Amino acid sequence: MSGAERMLPDEEATLTLGRSVAGAFPGGLVAFLHGDLGAGKTTFARAFLRALGVGERVKSPTYSLVEGYDIGDRRAFHLDLYRIADPGELEWLGLDSLAEPGAIVLVEWPERGAGALPPVDLELYFRHADGGRAVRLEARTPTGRRLLEALGD
Ligand code: ADP
Ligand code: MG
Repeated sequence: MSGAERMLPDEEATLTLGRSVAGAFPGGLVAFLHGDLGAGKTTFARAFLRALGVGERVKSPTYSLVEGYDIGDRRAFHLDLYRIADPGELEWLGLDSLAEPGAIVLVEWPERGAGALPPVDLELYFRHADGGRAVRLEARTPTGRRLLEALGD
C-alpha cells in the first residue's frame, strides 16, 4: 500500500508529520527514512521521538550511528547509517535489540544497513521540492498499513 506524495512546504510541516505518525501507531514500529542530505529525515525523527515523550534530549546520531531512548517500558532507537560503508560494520553495535517486539526503530540511510536491520513496517521517501520538501509513505506490513489508514492516506 502506497500513500500519495505529501508536500511539506516548511519545517513545521515536517514536524507535524512526525507528530502525526507518532500519534497513529499502536505498538512497535520499524520505519526507514530515505532521502538525500537535508531532505528532512532527522527533523521528522526528532518530532516523532519528542511526541512519544523523549523530550528535548533527542540528539542526531550522525556520529554515534545509533541513539537509544527509554519511553516508559519501551525502547526507541534512532539510527543514521550515512557513515557506514559495509553493513558488516554494524555487527559491533549489537543491534539485536532492534528486533525486540515493541521496539520503535527509525533508520536514516537504511540501504547502508541492508541485511542487518529488522523487517520494515513503513518506508518514508523524502525529497527536496520547490524550496520545501515532499514525502511519500509506503507500508510494508499490516502494522504499516494500519498506520497509513490511521493517518488518512
Ligand atoms: P536530513 O536528516 O535528511 O539530512 P534534516 O532533517 O537535518 O535533514 O534537515 C535539514 C534542514 O532542512 C534543516 O535545517 C531543517 O530545518 C530543514 N527542513 C526540514 N523539513 C523542511 C521542509 N519541509 N521545508 C524546508 N526545510 C525543511
Ligand atoms: Mg539526518
